[in-house]
This record gives sequence, structure tokens and C-alpha cells, in this order.
Amino acid sequence: MRRRVAIFGSTGSIGQNTVELLLRQGGPEAYEVVALTGAGNLPLLAEQARALRAGLAVTADDARGPDLAEALAGTGIETAAGADALLEAARRPADWAMSAIVGAAGLAPGLAAARHGGVLALANKESLVCAGPLLLDACAAHGTTLIPVDSEHSAIFQALRGEDRAGIERLLLTASGGPFRTRTLAEMARATPDEARAHPNWDMGLRISVDSATMFNKALEMVEAQVLFGIPPGRIEVVVHPQSIIHSMVGFADGSIIAQLGPSDMRGAIGYALNFPERAPLPVERLDFARLARLDFEPEDPARFPALGLARQVMAAGGLSGAVFNGAKEVALDAFLDRRIGFLDMSRLVADALDALGPAAAAATAGISLQDVMGYDRQTREFGRVWVERHG
Ligand code: NAD
Ligand code: MG
Repeated sequence: MRRRVAIFGSTGSIGQNTVELLLRQGGPEAYEVVALTGAGNLPLLAEQARALRAGLAVTADDARGPDLAEALAGTGIETAAGADALLEAARRPADWAMSAIVGAAGLAPGLAAARHGGVLALANKESLVCAGPLLLDACAAHGTTLIPVDSEHSAIFQALRGEDRAGIERLLLTASGGPFRTRTLAEMARATPDEARAHPNWDMGLRISVDSATMFNKALEMVEAQVLFGIPPGRIEVVVHPQSIIHSMVGFADGSIIAQLGPSDMRGAIGYALNFPERAPLPVERLDFARLARLDFEPEDPARFPALGLARQVMAAGGLSGAVFNGAKEVALDAFLDRRIGFLDMSRLVADALDALGPAAAAATAGISLQDVMGYDRQTREFGRVWVERHG
């Protein structure tokens, strides 16, 4: 029987790489593609749906339903539009689902996909930051194996295969340092969206690229690691490693460290999640150590990258403070991309949101629901909107 797969966010950077791997590994002959979803870029969504002979293609954009139906007319591929249709797609049984929508919008579909058993390949780190326990509980209740697709967490997951978690001393998340690793604060204050999106090593979506420049991406990943691996915040370290060859490391009680290395190519982590527990050949470059010659490391700089300190604050506070953290980061990013606030204002907005809404959110621990999480997300976005008006 063909493996039933679904991709949420198939038109994005992670989604396109996932489609490419499915096609390389046999395409529709090997996989029954239950659903593909996107938001804009309907021509790409339609092309993917044809190539993979998907059962259903969904655009999150309500208004574009007729366009999608037209693009796929005569193919027999079902089409739908809107947030409810997306959720309905995520409820359709699949053996392997990729959660690769960007932002908190990926939470509800990811949560629905976690209820099928099989594998949930999770690129959408925001859902773990906003609602980690909710997602982990859903996986546990339905026997779903959650495999992280974020390269750092995939590295840690791989390093932990066969290891007793009690022996973990610390997690070492590597960070490239982004495009502003060597910039001064004064230069960062003037940074434009175009400068901020130019990641030195990884080719990724716009939002995560700018999050790498502020290091909010690493900040989200610290919280993601805490949730995924159940490690106390004091044992999660960040090491700046400009070449991005070591994807992350685990330090054990005996002083040993296991690292996972590879080229900066997300098809590594996606392919790992797709083929787990096996390893299949992947079309990624092989490392040439003679050519690499060296690997460099630097300490993190909390003065220029306050996001990391904010992440530690969130990890210590717990509860739903991650939903405030992520929501504030998302509005701040939107305002920066719209040139309404400066680069350094992003962490100021997030810090203020955490001061204002964090304590109440941190107290929300028992019996939380998706509605509670989305409530904090909404409240934080409203706080951010007012903040931008006042400071922009
Ligand atoms: P992207 O912007 O390239 O793609 C996002 C996808 O989500 C697209 O298919 C888009 O149509 C869809 N989408 C956007 N807004 C939506 C909405 N409101 N409702 C439904 N769908 C919507 O993003 P990406 O870089 O592929 O990142 C996707 C996720 O993977 C993010 O959570 C990101 O943090 C994570 N991630 C990405 C990379 C990478 O290399 N790109 C690496 C690690 C983790
Ligand atoms: Mg990452």
C-alpha cells in the first residue's frame, strides 16, 4: 500500500523541498498524496498537485478558491479554500504529514495532523513555542511520532537515537549568527529588510531569514528544544558557528559530545524525517573536510541579540508565555518588513509585550486549550498593533 502523505505549506521553502524529495523517491507511484496546502502562489500549488496527483489542494486564501478550482479543472483533483477547509484537510487520515506553514497559522492544522498516528514531521517551530504541551499530548494520545525538521532539532534528535535521556547534560544549539553577526549596534539600528533577509548560509523563507538576523529564530529554537526534549532552560546553550556545518550537539554526563554535521541544505532534515527510521540516499552535497579546512565558534552576544535573553525569560516563566513571545515577534516582524519600526525595535516590542502580558500567560498551565493559546496570540497582536502606532 502506498504511504499516505500530506504537506501543509507545500508552496513554501520547506514545502517545495518536501515535494521535490517525494518526486525523487517515486512520486505518486510511491506515495498517495492526500492533501497539499498553500496560501498565495496558486500556479505553484496547482503544479505540485498535478505532479504528485494529489487528492486535494487547498489555498488558505478564501478569495482564491475559484482560481484554484480553475487551475485544476479537469484533473479530478478536489480543491477548497479558507481556514476551515485547511483544517478539514488536516483531519484527513495520513501516515506522514509535514507541518510547514509559517507562523502561528500552522498551529491548528499541525494539531489536527498530530491526531492520525504515523509521523508528524514538524518544521513549524511556532506551534511548539506557542502550544508545546498541547502538541506533544496530541501526539502521545494518538501514538504519533513527532520528528523535528528544524535542522538543529533534527541534529539533536539524531544524536539522541539509542541514548538514555537521563544522561543528557546539555544541548548545544549552533547558530550561524545571521547576516549581522559582525555588525555594530549602530549599524543594526539602520538595517533595512533587504539587508536583514540576506542569510549567509541557508536559503529559507523571508520570515525565518529575518528572524535569523535578530536571532529570534534561535530564540524560538531554544524554547522549541526545551519543549521537545524536556531539558531545563539552564542546560540549553547557544554556540555561534558561522559555517553552519555542525547542526547542533548534545553533551552527556560523561563529558562526551555527539554532534550531527552536514551541508546547509534543509533536504537533509526533511529527508531524514521522511525516511525515518531508515536512511535513504539524499541529493545533498557531501562534506569535503579538506576544503572546509576549519570550523569556527564564538560565544553569543546578548547585548546585540536581546532575543536570546528574552527566550530564557520565556523558558523560565513557562505556561503560555511562549504564545505571547511568538505573537509579539510576528507583529514586530510584520511592522519591520513594512518599514514601520526599526530593526532593534523588534526586540523592544517583544520585551514590552512579555512585561505586559507574560505574567498572566505564564500562569496558564493546567487544562489549556487551542482557544486559550489563540486568545493570547490575538491579545498580543493587538498589544503589538498599539505599540507600533505609538513608537512607529
Ligand atoms: P515560507 O514562507 O517559505 O512558506 C510558508 C508556507 O505557509 C507557504 O506554503 C505559504 O503559502 C503558507 N502560509 C503562509 N501563511 C499562511 C496562512 N496564514 N495560512 C496557511 N498557510 C499559510 O516559510 P518556510 O521558510 O518554508 O518556513 C515554514 C516553517 O518551517 C516555519 O515555521 C519556519 O520557521 C520553519 N523552518 C523553515 C526552515 C527553512 O529552511 N525554510 C528551516 C527550519 C524551520
Ligand atoms: Mg533552525
